[in-house]
Amino acid sequence: LLQLAINNLVDNAVKYSDSKTPVTANLKRSSGSTQLRISDEGKGISAEDKKKIFDKFYRAGNRHTREAKGTGLGLYLTKKIVEQHGGSVIVTDNKPQGSNFVIDLQTGN
Ligand code: ADP
Repeated sequence: LLQLAINNLVDNAVKYSDSKTPVTANLKRSSGSTQLRISDEGKGISAEDKKKIFDKFYRAGNRHTREAKGTGLGLYLTKKIVEQHGGSVIVTDNKPQGSNFVIDLQTGN
């Protein structure tokens, strides 16, 4: 299930950014926890949408801007899966553009 959660984030990073820009994955281990960060240089996510994108079936933008195919379930499931593993997932702005999704899991020591 964690693999599904990670796949969702990587798929979205690719889907919602230009094919010429990089998507990066970064794994960082600190004492007691592990963070996985997936970053893209796409158009980013507005503050308003950041509050809603983890909701079931929510898709940002209107009919015309929503060119990418999807169901709006990916982030809902990702959050559910990560939380059921005792972790959290957050979204922040990437600089100078795009988004970062960070999964934080308690891994002990
Ligand atoms: P889906 O991709 O099937 O629409 P998700 O639940 O995975 O559903 O994502 C919800 C919405 O969040 C997407 O429709 C999209 O508008 C936005 N979104 C998700 N990931 C990104 C991203 N990396 N960059 C920009 N917008 C994103």
